[in-house]
Amino acid sequence: MNLELGEEQTAVRQLARDFVGREITPNVVEWDRAESVDRSIVKKLGALGFLGLTIDEEYGGCGGDHLTYCLVTEELGRGDSSVRGIVSVSLGLVAKTIAAWGNEAQKRQWLPRLTAGDALGCFGLTEPGTGSDAGNLTTRAVREGDDYVVSGSKMFITNGSWADVVLLFARTNDTPGHKGVSAFLLPTDTPGLTRRTIHGKLGLRGQATAELVLDDVRVPAAAMLGPEGKGFAIAMSALAKGRMSVAAGCVGIAQAALEAAVGYAGEREQFGKPIASYQLVQELVSDISVDVSAARLLTWQVADLVDRGKDFATAASRAKLFASEAAVRAANNALQVFGGYGYIDEYPVGKLLRDARVMTLYEGTSQIQKLIIGRALTGVSAF
Ligand code: FAD
Repeated sequence: MNLELGEEQTAVRQLARDFVGREITPNVVEWDRAESVDRSIVKKLGALGFLGLTIDEEYGGCGGDHLTYCLVTEELGRGDSSVRGIVSVSLGLVAKTIAAWGNEAQKRQWLPRLTAGDALGCFGLTEPGTGSDAGNLTTRAVREGDDYVVSGSKMFITNGSWADVVLLFARTNDTPGHKGVSAFLLPTDTPGLTRRTIHGKLGLRGQATAELVLDDVRVPAAAMLGPEGKGFAIAMSALAKGRMSVAAGCVGIAQAALEAAVGYAGEREQFGKPIASYQLVQELVSDISVDVSAARLLTWQVADLVDRGKDFATAASRAKLFASEAAVRAANNALQVFGGYGYIDEYPVGKLLRDARVMTLYEGTSQIQKLIIGRALTGVSAF
């Protein structure tokens, strides 16, 4: 694996860094308090190509590599995890899955709009009663002529209030467990689908997270993504790549924590000297920097495997597990450097810690990542 970035990769990372400095950083405190990022950010992300980085050019994307995707995701995560999540879900979980599993008509229908930011995607797997145990979901899709009629509900759906299309997972037959699950591309303006925005989140407050309720929603059979009964495999393939994206976002959080902690340690004086001169403070920033570098390398390793067409799922779980725990540690250490000021939301580190906290929970909790890694090592499944 070559750790030296190419010219184009460096340029795209700089583009993302400039975008964050111009469009995101000045607004994060306000968006966090308002519990909503400015929706115009979606179109701006699309205009820069960030919503189509790894999608083929013929469908409106940039046809880029996954390391570049991770570089952009890290920069967005460094700026605001709520914005980073918009890209990780609409591109990473939805558009990429349509590109991988969709037929030509589905690709033409959705990909150009998703990559341009003219449409936003959300990923509807989790339900009120099934999170880690997603294969036992209960939303049902019953065949009626040329349609399926879908009933059930989906919980904690990122982009849910804003999305134009939901990649929806529903049970199409009575086979117990994941074998009865199929995937659908459902426009969110379909009659019978209602959305409730979830307020009061600890972090990611700027993100439009919603509960979706489906009451006899009619969806044409042609909207099924991939073969019937393959929905769970489709969801898992999406999440494996999604974990790389979450890991990259976590590197961004940890990097932001490092920059904030080093900056503050140099400015803040106690006992007549900058606190940076105290070895115990140096230990805090040193620990953050080790977490940043280790998380970044694990994440780049996944991107390298994906780009070379190698098996990457276990490496993605490893990177997501480490990077998410590292982001929480890094933000917490940075908050310690800031002292009492770290506890006030005008300073960046409190938000970093709140945003980081969900990373060990979604797209598979840390416990689930350990079970996936353990299964790969031992050949024995705990599920
Ligand atoms: P549970 O599954 O109920 O887990 C509770 C605890 O039990 C955890 O600590 C877990 O690790 C542990 N546990 C469960 N099973 C085991 C086991 N076998 N062994 C050991 N420990 C176990 N979902 C989507 O589909 N789409 C989205 O866009 C999306 N976005 C989200 C955004 C936010 C802000 C949040 C909070 C969640 C989001 N989710 C989304 C849902 C997320 O993926 C789930 O919350 C997550 O999978 C965990 O499920 P759960 O919350 O039901 O917890």
